[in-house]
Amino acid sequence: MNLRSLPDRKPFLTAALALVTLAALAAVAISAEPRAKDLFGARKLPAVAPAQSFGFYSKGCFTGGVALPMDGPNWEVMRPSRNRRWGHPAMISLIEKLARDAQADGWPGLLVGDVSQPRGGPMMTGHASHQIGLDADIWLTPMPKRPLTTAQRENMSATLMVDEKTHLVKDALWTPAHTRLLKRAASYPEVERILVNPGIKKKLCDTVTGDRTWLRKVRPFWGHDYHFHMRIGCQPGSPFCKAQETTPDDDGCGKPLAWWFTEEPWRPNKNPDAPKARDLMTMANLPKQCQDVLGAPDAPSLEAVTYHGGAAAAVAVAEPQPAEPQPSEPAQMISSGNASLPAAASAFAPTPSIGIPLPRPRPGN
Ligand SMILES: [Zn+2]
Repeated sequence: MNLRSLPDRKPFLTAALALVTLAALAAVAISAEPRAKDLFGARKLPAVAPAQSFGFYSKGCFTGGVALPMDGPNWEVMRPSRNRRWGHPAMISLIEKLARDAQADGWPGLLVGDVSQPRGGPMMTGHASHQIGLDADIWLTPMPKRPLTTAQRENMSATLMVDEKTHLVKDALWTPAHTRLLKRAASYPEVERILVNPGIKKKLCDTVTGDRTWLRKVRPFWGHDYHFHMRIGCQPGSPFCKAQETTPDDDGCGKPLAWWFTEEPWRPNKNPDAPKARDLMTMANLPKQCQDVLGAPDAPSLEAVTYHGGAAAAVAVAEPQPAEPQPSEPAQMISSGNASLPAAASAFAPTPSIGIPLPRPRPGN
C-alpha cells in the first residue's frame, strides 16, 4: 500500500464506514417494526365501537365485531382455537340466516370456518383477505348428526371436493344439495361474491338449469376445494370501507373459466419460500384508522359481544359518526411473494379492482 495515499483515502473510508453503519441501523429499524399480524393476532376481543370496516378485504380492520356462537341449532364453528369467528354484525347475522335457510333447503347445517379476528387485520396464517369482517368460509361438508367435540372441530379433516390433478369435481362427492347451498348463499343481496375452486364453478356451469343469474356471483379461485368463501359488500356506516368492483354481468362460464383449465394457473411458484404479503405488513400498510382500532378498549366480556340472533351486540354504541370520507391512499407497494398462490394474488398489488386478480386471457384469446 502506498503510505502517502493513506491520508487522502481516509475521508473516503470514514464516509463509507458511516454509510454502512447507517444502512445497518436502517435495517434494524425496519426489522424491528412490529408486524400487523402479530398486533392484530394478539387481540382477543373486539374494539368497542359502532360496527365499521376500514380499508379493503385484504388490507384493513374493523370495529364493533361480534362473535358467532360456537354452536347454533344449525351450525358449528370449526377450528375454534383460531378465534376467527368474529365479523361485522351484518356478516354474523347472515351466516345464521344461511344456516337456517340451508337447513330448510335440505342441508343439515353449516360447518363454519374462518370469519375474521376480533378486530380483523392480517392473520398469522392463511388468508390474504378476511381482514374487515365481511368474509366467511363455509365448509362444503354437511354438519354431522352428532355434535362435534372440541377436539373433532380442531382436527377433523376436510373433504376435498376437487381432484388435484384434473381440477374437476369428484362426482361421487358432489350432490344437488351442494348446489342448493351455493345458490342460497348467492341469493342474498348482501353477498357480492362467492369464491370456489374452478372445478366447482365448472360443475355449476355444466349442471345448473333454469335460473343461472346467480352464477355471476360465483367466482373461480385457487384453493376453495373444501369450503366456499362468502363475501358481502361494504356495509352502511363504513365510509372508509373500500368496495370491490362488481362482477361482470354474465355467468362467468365462458373464456375466463376455460383459462383455469389450461396449465398456466397451475405453474409451480418460482419462489415458494418468499414471505407472504400478510407476513410483511406493518401498521403503516393498513389504513391509518387501524392504529386506533388496535388501541381501542376491549369489549367487557366475550358474552357481551356474542351475537344471539339479532338481540346481541349488547355493546352496540351510538350510531356511527359520519366521518369525512378521504381519498384512498395510494397502494403501498412491497415486494411480496406467496408460497401457495401466484404472485398476482398478492394483497399488496395496487388495490385490485375486482378484489382478487382475475385471470387474463392467454395471448391470442
Ligand atoms: Zn376465505
